[in-house]
Amino acid sequence: MDISQSLNKKIIDIVGKDFVFADKQDMVVYESDGTHDKGMPDFVVLPRTTEEVAKLVLLANEFELPIIARGSGTGLSGGAVPVHGGLVISLNRMNTIIDIDVDSSTATVEAGVINLEISNKASEYGLFYAPDPSSQHACTIGGNIAENSGGPHCLAYGVTTNHVLAIEVVLPDGEITWFGDFNKEVPGVDFRGLFIGSEGTFGICTKVVVKLLQKPQDVKTMLIAFSSIQDAANATTAIIGAGIIPAAIEMMDKTASDAAEEATNAGIPKNSGAVLLIEIEGFESDINDQGKLISDVIYEFNPVDIKIAKNDQERDLFWKARKGVLGALGRIAPNYFLVDGTVPRTKLSAVLSEVSTLAKKYNLIVANVLHAGDGNLHPCILFDQQTPGDTDKALKLGGDILKVCVENGGVLSGEHGIGYEKRDYMPLLFSEIDLNNMKILKNIFDPDGLFNPGKIFPVE
Ligand SMILES: Cc1cc2nc3c(=O)[nH]c(=O)nc-3n(C[C@H](O)[C@H](O)[C@H](O)COP(=O)(O)OP(=O)(O)OC[C@H]3O[C@@H](n4cnc5c(N)ncnc54)[C@H](O)[C@@H]3O)c2cc1C
Repeated sequence: MDISQSLNKKIIDIVGKDFVFADKQDMVVYESDGTHDKGMPDFVVLPRTTEEVAKLVLLANEFELPIIARGSGTGLSGGAVPVHGGLVISLNRMNTIIDIDVDSSTATVEAGVINLEISNKASEYGLFYAPDPSSQHACTIGGNIAENSGGPHCLAYGVTTNHVLAIEVVLPDGEITWFGDFNKEVPGVDFRGLFIGSEGTFGICTKVVVKLLQKPQDVKTMLIAFSSIQDAANATTAIIGAGIIPAAIEMMDKTASDAAEEATNAGIPKNSGAVLLIEIEGFESDINDQGKLISDVIYEFNPVDIKIAKNDQERDLFWKARKGVLGALGRIAPNYFLVDGTVPRTKLSAVLSEVSTLAKKYNLIVANVLHAGDGNLHPCILFDQQTPGDTDKALKLGGDILKVCVENGGVLSGEHGIGYEKRDYMPLLFSEIDLNNMKILKNIFDPDGLFNPGKIFPVE
């Protein structure tokens, strides 16, 4: 029996034969995530319990096999791609909502639970889980922890790390431990905070305790069209500058909003330069006051149309258009490369102008979708990988956009992580000393470097 057969047998002993894949045709969907990066795993395994995960980690250590945790593969930085092969541990069968504790407003869930399912279950008790990535109907809470994911409503509520109390983790030596606490802040080193955003390089998260919030009494959703993207960007800066923090301020430029409208018939005014989707929440009286303040502020920026969702159906439709826009862009080109740079809000207008200049230089269409309130750009570079040279052009344009973001005081990623795709841009943002400090930390967790190798750190 060769090593691979012997390993296969040992994996089957842990999880059973139905939950291991070793044939290429079965593993092809695990080769990639939401990016164009690819890497074929040696094995894919779907454990059901934390103990099985720990046994798999020990086995991979014995055989010196890279270990790549995987949720739903919706990541947009190549994080779950096994670029050096290895054992992909897919958490999708660990998908139980263990407990909703109404008194403490918390939920305890397994790491493979889909983000939206937490809010769906919590809504039976008038509660919800705030971080809402646009992929929330598909991505797992474990993936959200690894990427410290954001979402439209994170403007007011904060990102994943602000809503996670405790995590159960399998460490690279197979030890099972908890970081954080179920209902209080713990003194000492915040290992919970260190782990969140470590992109699968510090261990595997298997259970999570999240905070739940009371659903707001009332919600108002506004769709505001502007004649130019600059007006929409400046209106965003002015709203927040006036001391108003809506629950969400999202933006789509003309290309994105026209595609979203064609896909959904949500009623987005066509041919406007850009639209803002603004949501405010709270008590009815506060909402009316805030809505009036926002109308006063945006008036300065020549809005060409203002719509207010008349009911929940219309509100859902506005959000369907925004959250489904990446799919809608498939009407224009078969492939996209999504950039995730984030800039200070005051620089939004200037950086968007530079993005437009760069798009013309490379002769590629860029559709801009933004978590505008956070200054988080998502220039979506549209291309056709069948056209020779287009993929390279798209990647180079993406790199140039990231440079512009950093030059304007921004960062490489607002929420999608560094992963494989952006690792070589890290020196734009971090000094050698910074990068070495990060490596020291990584080595403390994972001295053998088996956890998600090839990610985050630039290749020297
Ligand atoms: C259409 C679309 C819209 C999106 N919108 C948003 C958005 O609004 N905001 C946002 O932040 N992101 C967004 N994303 C990106 C993506 O959905 C998030 O990064 C999400 O958190 C990934 O979850 P996943 O379960 O798919 O993880 P995967 O893609 O499977 O993995 C992502 C990373 O997490 C690691 N990982 C996964 N599970 C675990 C675990 N249990 N323990 C340790 N490491 C683990 C993997 O190794 C990998 O590095 C979007 C993606 C798409 C396709």
